[in-house]
Amino acid sequence: MTDPWVCIDCGARQDARGKCRACGHEDTLDAQDDKVRELMRDVDLRLSLRREGRIRVVGVAVGMIVVIGLWMVPGYWDLRGRVYPGLPLLADQWMLMAAIAFGTIKLIEANLVHKRFPYLRDDLTMS
Ligand SMILES: [Zn+2]
Repeated sequence: MTDPWVCIDCGARQDARGKCRACGHEDTLDAQDDKVRELMRDVDLRLSLRREGRIRVVGVAVGMIVVIGLWMVPGYWDLRGRVYPGLPLLADQWMLMAAIAFGTIKLIEANLVHKRFPYLRDDLTMS
């Protein structure tokens, strides 16, 4: 394994033990140790759970803002009646909100989400 010393704070790897050269964290851990790799996986898991919650909130907010924004557009409600009849209890509007939220979440996940330890594989080996 090249660069087996890993910084838990930033994920940087280096060839020798000691202070992290990337962020200055005082110590690096030996990724050749099973327990260290398990810790790295737990850190990534905890970060991804926290991130998921935040991304979901952003997605729902974007969906609501876009749809409620559309309601303010003159002619939007007439169009809804003409192009298609609409669904009871504004169900079509709720579905549109959910679709926009889902798309936003997928877009953020695909473009902005980075793992701290991207080189750690699921079977806890490293590339
Ligand atoms: Zn670091």
